[in-house]
Amino acid sequence: MQTDLLQRAEAFARDVLVAEGENPGGHLGSRIENDFAVAHYFHAQLSGYRGWQWCVVLAGSPGSTELTVSEVVLLPGDGALLSPKWVPWSARVSAGDLGPGDLLAAAPDDPRLVPGQIDTLDVDPIDRDQVGQVVAEIGLGRKRLLSFDGRAEAAQRWYDGDRGPSSPMAQNSRFECAACGFFLPITGALRPSFGVCANEYGADGVAVSAEYGCGAHSDTPMPPGGQGSPAFDAYDDGAVEIVQIVAPVEVDVPVEVDVPVEVDVTVSAD
Ligand code: SF4
Repeated sequence: MQTDLLQRAEAFARDVLVAEGENPGGHLGSRIENDFAVAHYFHAQLSGYRGWQWCVVLAGSPGSTELTVSEVVLLPGDGALLSPKWVPWSARVSAGDLGPGDLLAAAPDDPRLVPGQIDTLDVDPIDRDQVGQVVAEIGLGRKRLLSFDGRAEAAQRWYDGDRGPSSPMAQNSRFECAACGFFLPITGALRPSFGVCANEYGADGVAVSAEYGCGAHSDTPMPPGGQGSPAFDAYDDGAVEIVQIVAPVEVDVPVEVDVPVEVDVTVSAD
């Protein structure tokens, strides 16, 4: 039977590897692939390939004693050292990765964007920008617009982020951006909730929640005694009393010690 001949050809399979310049270890066994092909496995003694095996697939024609090498391949065995699972770049890229000159195209089906002629309901509740809507409807605006979902995601991100009402800065501020003179409301549906800070000492140039706030708010009162933070008030040495500290003098004082006195006490038995 052809597979018997192929299974007994262990030495031939090893010679194939040696001829390839490899140094195979012990024979791990063989496996019948079909009626005319058998795979032989050997320890791969290669640095960096712990647990890997050489696989040499031999084949033979029916009725022939001639052996043919079908394939030589390195395969991982049980417990083999493997590289981490590959993750496509689109799943790996994260905020802050984009550098100067990098390109990061939004996918055609990016749910954050919709074609420009779609009504995204991004209507400013105060200005009612009907002109912008008409421009978009006749195809004169931007090719793609922020979708309803994209806008909602951004709003949630900003609200929950460092410029939202739950941030440490906002929690420690008595004032909110909504009432700050440096607050520039944005247009569109998010106008009541977000704006851009125009204070170089605040969150300059960044989208802030109307409920955010910082100590540089335009209504922050001047601290008493001068400008700036109380932590850096001028030091007024005229209001400080100078006290001369006298060094302590050492004096020898005799020490009185109470010495117990022995007394004879006689008790009468009247
Ligand atoms: S200065 Fe502070 S309170 Fe005013 S808009 Fe900027 S971040 Fe908000």
